[in-house]
Amino acid sequence: MIKSSPGHNSVTLLGMRVDRVTMDESLALIERYIAERTPRHILTADASMVVTSSEDPEFAAIAAKADLVTPDGAGILWATKRQGNPVVSKVSGVVLAEKCVALSQTKGWRIFFFGAAPGIAEEARARMMARYPEAQIIGHRDGFFKPEDESAVVDQIRAARPDILLVALGIPKQEKFIDRNRAALGVPVMIGVGGTFDVFSGSVKRAPVWMQNAGLEWLHRLAANPKKISKVAMLPQFVRMVLREKPGRV
Ligand code: UDP
Repeated sequence: MIKSSPGHNSVTLLGMRVDRVTMDESLALIERYIAERTPRHILTADASMVVTSSEDPEFAAIAAKADLVTPDGAGILWATKRQGNPVVSKVSGVVLAEKCVALSQTKGWRIFFFGAAPGIAEEARARMMARYPEAQIIGHRDGFFKPEDESAVVDQIRAARPDILLVALGIPKQEKFIDRNRAALGVPVMIGVGGTFDVFSGSVKRAPVWMQNAGLEWLHRLAANPKKISKVAMLPQFVRMVLREKPGRV
């Protein structure tokens, strides 16, 4: 089923809108959003996010009004294929984030890394600066703070005046943080990027390409960190939920 949404050709998975965009289109939109300077919220939707959306009404409302929801992951591509309306191009958070850093070299985009354990965003920044020396990664801070310190965190980010804020607090915490503070942050492009800084910093390795292509990134994650079983278990849950839907009504 194609569901129209403002400015995007979209599909609906278990009630959540996912936009049919390629990586190049996503980057072109980011460039436009930066020029327009209105705070925008981008979600990268994997299977666990779609399951979260079906269970958490507050999250579902945030996803419904997001400016862009990219298809992130093999589970999403599989489900759209099953409903006979395949999305074939994946736009994952970790790749989108790295492309933003790369483009920041020529476009001058100011990027802030917010989230992950103490020291990780800083190390992620150092490794990205080694790879893209002209990139403008103008600030970083970890993602562990007390609720009463949230307004100080928002002030710190706002004062750095980023064009792009990458928020790595995990789903749905990062999306709720962005939504709650959208106006106060005043950043043109805000993206929840999950475990991206753990990957950038080298503390977590991405699955080998053959596993990514076979849709087995979840298995690699589980092998690397068995504590993530509840998160990884959302993939079979997603598959079950999609299979329960009548084809064409996913
Ligand atoms: N995290 C954080 N603050 C918190 C909880 C989590 O900064 O209060 C970080 C955590 O250290 C990790 C990221 O958020 O870097 C979540 O990564 P995960 O791969 O679990 O993300 P998801 O798959 O939920 O997007």
